[in-house]
Amino acid sequence: MQSLQSDSPLTALKGVGPALAKKLEKLNLKRVDDLLFLLPLRYEDRTQLVKVGALEAGARCLVSGEILLANTVFRGRRNLLVRIGDGSGQMTLRFFHFSRQQQVQFQPNSHVICFGEVRKGQSGFEMIHPEYRITQERQDTATTDSLTPIYPATEGVQQGRLRNLTDQALRLMHAKPPKELLPRKVTKRIGMPSLADAINYIHRPPPDADVQQMLSGTHPFQRRLVFEELLAHYLSLRNLRALTATENAIALTNGNEDVSSFVNELPFKLTNAQDRVISDILLDLAEPHPMMRLIQGDVGSGKTIVAAVACLKAIACGVQAAIMAPTEILAEQHWRSFSDWFRPLKITPAWLSGNQRAAPRRESLQSIADGSAQLIIGTHALFQKGFNFYRLGLVIIDEQHRFGVHQRMALRDKGISESGHPHQLVMTATPIPRTLAMAAYADLDTSIIDELPPKRQPVSTVAVPETRRSEVVERVRSSCAFGHQAYWVCPLIEESEALNCQAAEASYQMLTEALPNLRVGLVHGRMRPAEKERVMKAFKKGLIKLLVATTIIEVGVDVPNANLMIIENAERMGLSQLHQLRGRVGRGEAKSHCVLIYKLPLGHIAKERLTVLRDTNDGFIVAQRDLELRGPGELLGAKQTGLPDYRIANLVRDADLMPQVQICAEAILKETENHAAAIMRRWLGDASRYGKV
Ligand code: ADP
Ligand code: MG
Repeated sequence: MQSLQSDSPLTALKGVGPALAKKLEKLNLKRVDDLLFLLPLRYEDRTQLVKVGALEAGARCLVSGEILLANTVFRGRRNLLVRIGDGSGQMTLRFFHFSRQQQVQFQPNSHVICFGEVRKGQSGFEMIHPEYRITQERQDTATTDSLTPIYPATEGVQQGRLRNLTDQALRLMHAKPPKELLPRKVTKRIGMPSLADAINYIHRPPPDADVQQMLSGTHPFQRRLVFEELLAHYLSLRNLRALTATENAIALTNGNEDVSSFVNELPFKLTNAQDRVISDILLDLAEPHPMMRLIQGDVGSGKTIVAAVACLKAIACGVQAAIMAPTEILAEQHWRSFSDWFRPLKITPAWLSGNQRAAPRRESLQSIADGSAQLIIGTHALFQKGFNFYRLGLVIIDEQHRFGVHQRMALRDKGISESGHPHQLVMTATPIPRTLAMAAYADLDTSIIDELPPKRQPVSTVAVPETRRSEVVERVRSSCAFGHQAYWVCPLIEESEALNCQAAEASYQMLTEALPNLRVGLVHGRMRPAEKERVMKAFKKGLIKLLVATTIIEVGVDVPNANLMIIENAERMGLSQLHQLRGRVGRGEAKSHCVLIYKLPLGHIAKERLTVLRDTNDGFIVAQRDLELRGPGELLGAKQTGLPDYRIANLVRDADLMPQVQICAEAILKETENHAAAIMRRWLGDASRYGKV
């Protein structure tokens, strides 16, 4: 024990050999003190025995009871069922995998104490594969008096082992507390507990810990660590930004006349907000360092034209520009808009997507590599391996919340050449609340388009139960009879894309039958790209009056003549998604409407969402409410958000700390800069360079 230091390798601990050390490395654990920062993901409350009669499905509980019966049944495979009772009721323990020895263990009249998730089975409550212990005597009280920490799992390392290792690390910590890296004046002002106290409490909550606070992650000791973790991430993004400032980029200084004549020729006048954002961008581009700018603007605020101006500037300066969009439909629409806008300038965009046929693809890649393509538009295919740009000077990412930080960086890195890094512009229609933006986008400069083009009218929104679907169909009929167009968005079925498409086909069937005099079109994710394009074109031209679609039309699609949006199963969608979908209408001068069809009964949150949409068209308010109702993962993008996983912080719950985190970061960078690296190392390990793939 003498030689054990906080920075010793894990193999210095009892019971850790090279094989285990390797597994632990997957959890970013290399040194003994890394274990202190392996924080419990959650806690289990094994301090209370719950009576069978008081169980609720979904809860994880400790139950003690007498074994009444154990037998095996055949349900496709053999199941071992153990019936237990505690006087207040009976329940079943179910095992799919069990040994002969286990089977004979469960002797009637013995007792068992078990912990697991309660589920509703065919004959009352059951637990599947609970943890259990068999006792001869009846057990009336729980044997632990404090919350049980549950650590992040990795293959082949059991919770018990992690508890043992953290025990060893905690013992060492008591002899030698970890270094406080936060400035004293900050911890004092906020009244924060010491780091060692916080760590100890979180790993081993004492019996008198406030269970509710601990389970909800709001205990002052938790907040102490949350603060430091948020700080680590913030510093790392700041770091990335500082790094960018030292990188080279081609300064794009020419082409101002091209830009102004292009803007003057547009069929509309740019809004003041667009003008302002364009000047931000042009200033950035003229610098010999890469631009890293985020444009936030609500749906329909006119971000595309701003992107076009940036591209034109780049092309005029002799470098290539690339635009990446998250869906094929949106990328195609950009391809068409840019083709139209740039036709007089004889600039034809090259196209690159995953579904492209071999020959046109080869042609695109050729033109991208030899520089004859000045502008490249496409999907994720843009950052794939196996080809190079000739001279990429500007990367634009539309609907950036659909991509992760890593994808964004991958495209940027693809463009790195001896002349430097490409400039980067990312655009998002999801306006995120300020505190969250601080945490998520600290590596970017931000411009906001806070104004809609003139003559836009708010979309009026109503919610109706599906029992009134026929009235909605009638409404589509009469609106289209006036020459307007409409969207009908089909239910979102999370389980499978195939089911989604089936649902869309069924709605299409229903609507073509109900509206025989109307030309109805259908798009969904499983159609061939050429087919999708044909339908979208016909809709854009006004030939198709009603477009039945899955949520693939959620982002970007722009058909100003469409003024009616019908959304089915609206209760299943998130607020921001509904707002995006609704943003497909209200783009022309005619009054637009959105009808949200919902299935009864409506849950509390669903009701709340529909009310928010009915009451406001303002994306910022929608986003704020969405954040409160759902959490930042959903808000910043449904899948991998690119936000790294936090160990203990939760951006929604803890957003209120961000202003203090920011102040603290400034203080550290000014006064104790070496602490910044140590904080990042502590929380992010080698990933502290995240963002740099
Ligand atoms: P988003 O910000 O959602 O990407 P778009 O760029 O698709 O919005 O623009 C929405 C619609 O508004 C498009 O039809 C576009 O041509 C039009 N538009 C953009 N800017 C203006 C403007 N200044 N005046 C009038 N219409 C505009
Ligand atoms: Mg857009």
